[in-house]
Amino acid sequence: MSTEQFPAGFEGRVRYTKAPGRSSVADTADVVGLVQEILREVQNRGDAAIREYSQRFDKADLDQFEVSAADRQAAVDALEKQTREDTEFAIENVRRFAQAQLGTIQPLEIEALPGLHLGHRVIPIERVGAYVPGGRFPLLSAPIMTIVPGKVAGCDEVVACLPPNAHQAMIAGCHLSGADRIFRIGGAQAIAAMAFGTESVPQVNKIVGPGNAFVNEAKRQVFGPVGIDQLAGPSEIFVVADSTGKPDLIATDLLAQAEHDVRTRVGLITTDEKLALATADEVQKQLETLSTAKIAAESWANYGEITLCADEAAMIAYSDFIAAEHLQVHTAEPREFAKKLRNYGSLFIGENASVVYSDKCVGTNHTLPTMHAGRYTGGLWVGSYVKIATHQWLDDSAVGLVAGPATRQSASEGLEGHRRAAAARVDRKAATFAAL
Ligand code: NAD
Repeated sequence: MSTEQFPAGFEGRVRYTKAPGRSSVADTADVVGLVQEILREVQNRGDAAIREYSQRFDKADLDQFEVSAADRQAAVDALEKQTREDTEFAIENVRRFAQAQLGTIQPLEIEALPGLHLGHRVIPIERVGAYVPGGRFPLLSAPIMTIVPGKVAGCDEVVACLPPNAHQAMIAGCHLSGADRIFRIGGAQAIAAMAFGTESVPQVNKIVGPGNAFVNEAKRQVFGPVGIDQLAGPSEIFVVADSTGKPDLIATDLLAQAEHDVRTRVGLITTDEKLALATADEVQKQLETLSTAKIAAESWANYGEITLCADEAAMIAYSDFIAAEHLQVHTAEPREFAKKLRNYGSLFIGENASVVYSDKCVGTNHTLPTMHAGRYTGGLWVGSYVKIATHQWLDDSAVGLVAGPATRQSASEGLEGHRRAAAARVDRKAATFAAL
């Protein structure tokens, strides 16, 4: 059964949908039970359970999960010169943007009423766990996106976990991004280790980072005592395009995400029937020469869609409804069009702005909300690594202002303890407050 409910009165405005209402979240029910078991076992048996799951899911036999200082350095030394330069280019760009964003999060102090002082502080979270996905492909930018913003935010410790078979270059990426500790643990067992702590893995306060269905389900289940950034699951890309869209470029960008995972959701939303048909043909044509076609073709068959809309308003409504992780705008006036869109993870304005540039190195974070979460949140950012915590203090004059309302409210609620605490300040200071 589809988990998607189309907005009332909307369906009539979509003339054609290849895969209507398919959602990559719909088939995850079988994952829930397995993840429950993994979390329970790691919580109860610690490292021993991690060893068993690493053997079962990753075919890895590890005595020690933590990457030693010598192995970190060896991974960096093994990088080819160009790869190292490209990694540092990406780190610098992500750091620059995160620093600029941090500058927008300011502490606050106001005198809300005479003598009533309210404010908030921006406090870095002490220890953050960064999940670095990379089971099937060496996602070289993945460590950068989850570790660098945490270091910019000023967290005491950023702990990284990545699958045991992840490419050496990803270990190097973790090190160059500033990870304080690096563990070779993947999947739900990594999330469990960071959430509960084990003999070798420290317990963290918040877990960030994308991953496959097991990783995301584990994050969802541990949320509470440990924080999570959001559910950033199998990638999604949608392109909204008018008749100026170029089928070859659109097909290339759709397939660039489709190759990530057989659960990737990709789609074109357009008002132009010619473009819709030409893009469908292009996807098939390009699949013939794509080395990752096995995954991309399956993803396209499962979750690919082309939606032909009656007009621009329907295009916008459908796009907002999907709230795609990545949303590309290929229209005649993309910057104007972009202002009309509300729900997305990150927006790619105009045909030069390929998702791949942001995935790798431009500086915006590639960890973005999927499965409609773009309706209520943006992606991972430096603000995800800090708490905005409020405080207050009151001069005697302010006690006179607030004690009356607070005392009366407590009395109406039948909370005698509250009423006494509210009134006690006034009594002790012998302030005159007629209403008490
Ligand atoms: P991953 O690191 O997320 O998962 C690999 C781990 O999954 C393995 O270490 C293994 O322990 C576990 N696993 C594999 N099969 C299992 C099974 N049958 N049962 C239980 N556990 C199992 O790496 P991946 O699988 O390559 O997936 C990466 C995902 O991250 C892709 O879906 C990609 O689209 C997504 N991603 C999303 C974003 C985003 O911002 N939304 C960004 C980057 C990557």
